[in-house]
Amino acid sequence: MKIRKIQKNGYDNGASLAKAWRADGLVLYPGSGRAELGYLLSNEESSQKLGYAAATEGVNVNLLQRWEKYAIEQGNEKMLERIRAWDEKKLLQTVEKVQQKALAQKFDRRRYPEIQGLAAYRSAEAKGIADVLGVDYRRVLLCNGYGGYIHRIVREGGESELSEKSGCTTIAFKSSPKGPIIGRNLDAEIAALAGLQGHGEPVMFQYPEEMGYSYENTTYVNSEGLALQGSSIAYPQEPESPLSLVGMDIQDLIVRFCKNVTETLDLIERYNPFFGPTNLLVVDARGDAAAIEKTKNTFAVRRTDTNWIFTTDGVAVEAKTRKLQGDDTPAYQFSLQRHQLIEKLLKKEAKAPSIEAMQRIITDHALPSPVCKHLDKMPSFYPLASLYSFILVPQEKVYYFKVIRPGPTYPCQQEPVKYSYAFDGKGAEKGDPHVR
Ligand SMILES: [Zn+2]
Repeated sequence: MKIRKIQKNGYDNGASLAKAWRADGLVLYPGSGRAELGYLLSNEESSQKLGYAAATEGVNVNLLQRWEKYAIEQGNEKMLERIRAWDEKKLLQTVEKVQQKALAQKFDRRRYPEIQGLAAYRSAEAKGIADVLGVDYRRVLLCNGYGGYIHRIVREGGESELSEKSGCTTIAFKSSPKGPIIGRNLDAEIAALAGLQGHGEPVMFQYPEEMGYSYENTTYVNSEGLALQGSSIAYPQEPESPLSLVGMDIQDLIVRFCKNVTETLDLIERYNPFFGPTNLLVVDARGDAAAIEKTKNTFAVRRTDTNWIFTTDGVAVEAKTRKLQGDDTPAYQFSLQRHQLIEKLLKKEAKAPSIEAMQRIITDHALPSPVCKHLDKMPSFYPLASLYSFILVPQEKVYYFKVIRPGPTYPCQQEPVKYSYAFDGKGAEKGDPHVR
């Protein structure tokens, strides 16, 4: 188990994070499948071995060049023209401007106590990281929430192309002989494979008491036993939210400041104008659970009277959100079929909820829209695959983790590694590599 002790001073925290990443062989890189505090990271050694660009470019990668390449692949002439009107200098100046705007934002103290001083803290944190890595701090910002935001500015509005590709499935048994059990598949582009090698070991973010609860970064479970996961979704037809908080991570706020589902729903209600779209699934230590379908401007909450609840990418099922998503795209129909498949599997498996039952569901391959996604079985409009999966048992403080290997060897083709974690700072052990 890796422990990241969060510092009260933002700059110190950035410096300590960057040193820890270096010691762990992780490089900051905008665009991979793992993140810490919103900073995207890649595994340096396996990236080099697999000839993946991340190892050589890292934080200094030329984003404009990459966005240009993407526009060419998409055959989008207009987008290409817009991107070509930019240069590196203008890009970094824009990051600076957005940063100044974020720093100037004021939030009502009573309604938003959790984010007072957050922008200043995170700005100082980015500078601490930049100084240790010896890079421009604006490039550090491009590796967290700013990347997607700036991409939108460069393209002059519209959805971020990357966020249009929705992925991930999260399923929960609210109760079982072992308490709540949460299963999760992460779906991403296969290029993230290199960055994910060696991923899975618990990373504990230990917060000073006044800064919130501590949490484990791979599974997003906090010291109160609240577990948060979800899936992604886009609402291309919905107008942009008038407000957005760059660099604020709602998932981070939830696990730091909420101990149960009731508190989570209160936080989501208050922060509704600032985040989304996303599907969230939250389960607390008592087995209370809710799925939140968050659009750009509003959200719907699903509670179930069954022993299970879930969310899968690209589909909203509540009336309010369903209406906003529309149902005429092949991507939606594809996701809906998976939603129906999971429901059918759960009706059967939830009669005897167990780790094995969860394992069967998250490795189901029924076509046309399987829960475990292999790239060669996906339709052309869906370029994502299941790169890692885990089953979390908060009551026992353990999870079972499997990550894609070169080949590719998918998570479903492997034995899981059992990890245990603790919140007392004493560390954790790697257990037997089989589900039991
Ligand atoms: Zn599979």
